[in-house]
Amino acid sequence: MKKRNRLTRRFYLPAVIAILLGACTPATRQSDMDKKIDALMQQMTLEEKIGQLNLPGAGDITTGEASNSDIATKIKNGEVGGLFNIKTAQKIREVQRIAVEQSRLKIPLIFGMDVIHGYHTVFPIPLGLSCSWDMPLIEQSARIAAIEASADGICWTFSPMVDISRDPRWGRVAEGSGEDPYLGSEIAKAMVKGYQGDSLTGKNTIMACVKHFALYGAVEAGRDYNTTDMSRIRMYNEYFPPYKAAIDAGAGSAMTSFNEIDGIPASANQWLLTDVLRKQWGFKGFVVTDFTAINEMVAHGLGDLQTVSALALKAGVEMDMVGEGFVTTLKKSLEEGKITPEEIDRACRLVLEAKYKLGLFDDPYRYCDPERAKTEIFTPEHRRIARETAAQSFVLLKNEQQVLPLQKEGTIALIGPLANNRENMAGTWSVAADFNQSVSLLDGIRNVAGSKVKVIYAKGANVVADSALEARVSVFGKPTYRDNRPANVLIQEAVNTARKADVIVAALGEAAEMSGESSSMSHIELPENQRELLKALLKTGKPLVMVLFNGRPMAIKWEQEHVPAILDVWFGGTEAGNAVADVLFGDVNPSGKLSATFPQNLGQVPIYYNHKNTGRPLPKGKWFQKFRSNYLDVSNEPLYPFGYGLSYTTFDYGKMKLSSTSLSGNETLTVSVPVTNSGDREGKEVVQLYIRDMAGSVTRPVKELKGFQKIDLKAGETQTVTFTITPDDLKFYNYDLKYDWEPGEFEIMVGGNSRDVQISTVNWMK
Ligand code: BGC
Repeated sequence: MKKRNRLTRRFYLPAVIAILLGACTPATRQSDMDKKIDALMQQMTLEEKIGQLNLPGAGDITTGEASNSDIATKIKNGEVGGLFNIKTAQKIREVQRIAVEQSRLKIPLIFGMDVIHGYHTVFPIPLGLSCSWDMPLIEQSARIAAIEASADGICWTFSPMVDISRDPRWGRVAEGSGEDPYLGSEIAKAMVKGYQGDSLTGKNTIMACVKHFALYGAVEAGRDYNTTDMSRIRMYNEYFPPYKAAIDAGAGSAMTSFNEIDGIPASANQWLLTDVLRKQWGFKGFVVTDFTAINEMVAHGLGDLQTVSALALKAGVEMDMVGEGFVTTLKKSLEEGKITPEEIDRACRLVLEAKYKLGLFDDPYRYCDPERAKTEIFTPEHRRIARETAAQSFVLLKNEQQVLPLQKEGTIALIGPLANNRENMAGTWSVAADFNQSVSLLDGIRNVAGSKVKVIYAKGANVVADSALEARVSVFGKPTYRDNRPANVLIQEAVNTARKADVIVAALGEAAEMSGESSSMSHIELPENQRELLKALLKTGKPLVMVLFNGRPMAIKWEQEHVPAILDVWFGGTEAGNAVADVLFGDVNPSGKLSATFPQNLGQVPIYYNHKNTGRPLPKGKWFQKFRSNYLDVSNEPLYPFGYGLSYTTFDYGKMKLSSTSLSGNETLTVSVPVTNSGDREGKEVVQLYIRDMAGSVTRPVKELKGFQKIDLKAGETQTVTFTITPDDLKFYNYDLKYDWEPGEFEIMVGGNSRDVQISTVNWMK
């Protein structure tokens, strides 16, 4: 017996392990997947194949009644490939059971949801999250979102949203990572990794869906769903990189955008979905449309539903979200020879492959373990991390007279329409959250301040004076609690409250639903009535901190000129109130840096740091010069540049050093800069590296972010930050859309934001 055991260990065990490992190699898995799907597709009728391409919303399904619903009938008939906006392991199990027990071929459904910035535990809105410039933290937020969503039955998220946007009017700027393709790409990768893990094999991983492909952030005038039009060279260099980064990171699916590109809506754009996405980038996953995007092509003016559905399939769409254009017309189009059986097979195969990759063929109830939900959703640990993450997303825009951090003693007057509102803290797109469990700023300050602080509160103003506008943004369970007393009465009450305090914290800005989908704004200043409140509060002469809630860059020039301290807190999620209080009282030193430029006024939009020089640039430091590229009535400077953000400490940059100023071929340039924490408390700094290509075959931006490092320095500590640059970092798409670098002179810039940089020059020859 003993002998056999030893033998087993020596000979059989390694062999068994080798076989097992072999079974798990990508190649074996691929062939296993192909075999499984080939066999399945041989049995599938045309209708069943088309059914796989159909993604209805969960509609009328309620627990316990799943099998009697209209959707259930469709599932039984094999007319549904997946469902979205349905949650809980129990409910999803019920619906999955219909598919795998009552439909002819027992093909499991895929369950998707907009898990955008957290699930039940809500993290800051993506625009805020991007201001942390902290990739491990961002990845972790996606990881936690995946753990919670998968514990609740969901295996597919419609995230990351990586649309570059330079237009703060567009409400969906809140859902993305700002204006920069490099930062946006890093975040896209981190998010995909967080959701999917190294592979999709873990039960607590979910499939990512990069969206909205493509160029949705460039809609004209910032009006949602509007037209996009841009040169290909700009697409490739400035807007495509984050989508490509998500694809390269292995995102399992992609979602089309609503807008048109070169006159063809994304969902029918073969160049975009097949030539770029599949042929150039090698995308292997499946493409889902945005919500009814196929049907909307009728309104776009491309033809009737049958025509646009056929166009979408041919262009490279695999799944039709909600509109049922595929399921109602593709058969007819096939009979009429407008589409081919191969096109349907391609789409069906890719949807089935996604299900295979998610392990649903092995176990359709893989994500339906009700026990997990009890222990893995909204845990104290997740909330703790959400609190830490939120604090990292805040950006200190101004801090004069050391108003911040606040002392933990005395009386604080907390004033403002966002001060005592839990529901708005989650921000836009937080569909799974219970908004009542978010922490308001009032509660957060009380939690953190300690017993020596007295907090007194008054609302002071409504979010906006216009009640109709306020009603439009008090939606999706996020009330703004309008106070119908006259504005001057509210202000007077607030002033009386403020007079009793040592310091005023004014919680102002936008309601959560003033950004997000279909929430474009033609004014991006602080609403007039809130400005009036602010003026009255400032007149008391008390020190004042403005805590700004917002889902977009705002034109707060007046506030910058008149308010001593401004902390931008976006919408921080579940733990927003606690996290803001942590920063206000200095338990956490703010370190966020803007991922989008703040304009002085809306007239400057689009304004972004990586612009072109033009033939008539304004000399540095000037405002107006006749016959130069500028405005008569406002300087070219932003209010706050990209990459900007203050700290309670200060950082001094020593002289930057280059390993060489003359390089050739594939050499590596090393750039190092000593950074010293010259203040009296520990703090984090995001050290940024920019490059300018001085002359090219096409014009190049005045600077482009090419690297960053977030460092943590104790008071008095110095750290030398080193960046390495290779010719890969110099590459761009030229006029022929060829990706390469061109020799010549380059400026290398290092600094704490995109404006305040030191510059050195190198020559780099091929
Ligand atoms: C949005 C998408 C979202 C989808 C599903 C659409 O209206 O544009 O971002 O994923 O709805 O909810």
